[in-house]
Amino acid sequence: MSINKENSLFNTKVVYDITKFTHLDYPQHLACIVWFSGCNMRCDYCYNKDIVFSKNGVYSYNDVLEFLKTRVNLLDAVVLSGGEATSHELVEFCKEIKKLGFLIKLDTNGTNPHAIRELLNLGLLGFVALDYKAAKDKFLQITHSNKYDEFSNTLDLLLACGIEFEVRTTLHYDLLNENDINTIIKDLSQKKYTKKYYIQEFLDTGINIANLEKPSKSFDKTKLLDDIKIIWR
Ligand code: SF4
Repeated sequence: MSINKENSLFNTKVVYDITKFTHLDYPQHLACIVWFSGCNMRCDYCYNKDIVFSKNGVYSYNDVLEFLKTRVNLLDAVVLSGGEATSHELVEFCKEIKKLGFLIKLDTNGTNPHAIRELLNLGLLGFVALDYKAAKDKFLQITHSNKYDEFSNTLDLLLACGIEFEVRTTLHYDLLNENDINTIIKDLSQKKYTKKYYIQEFLDTGINIANLEKPSKSFDKTKLLDDIKIIWR
């Protein structure tokens, strides 16, 4: 029996794929990853091209819930990723996930602060990973989206509500230089972000939206401000 079988929303196919197990994605938890189709950004370095450009999903919310029912007591958390998960209806889905006893982590580009506020207010999220794509002056160039202010609102929201979260940036040396990262560090520092700041170096999988190759420029890590703790991934 499907949960909410009669609910048309829950029969909508919005999920591109499910990673059935990860111990790396949600700190200290065994989780699965739900990859939502579509994204409102087009980041040059994005290697989830198929997911981003996918208009329809393969699995419905119900399909995911059915899968989760088989993982009760085996996994303790669900990661909502994509694509951009907040492009889709998440509240009722998250309520069902919580009823099954799982924690929920959200991976997000932060461009939908209203949806994130609602999820936070309802106590549905246990952890958020927020992408800090670039400072305002390069945000459009890198993401092809003009939603820096929305992203910044989400950052403020997470800082104010006390939830566990992390900020992370993908770094391609041809797109962001030392000054760009320092601008991000200064912003985080001014906003009193005291957690670790994760910088993940561009992974050349051979597939990305802008057909980027390995960087031609170098990057001097010693030029970075030490206002906050940086963890390189
Ligand atoms: S890297 Fe950018 S384009 Fe790719 S899924 Fe994340 S926000 Fe969307």
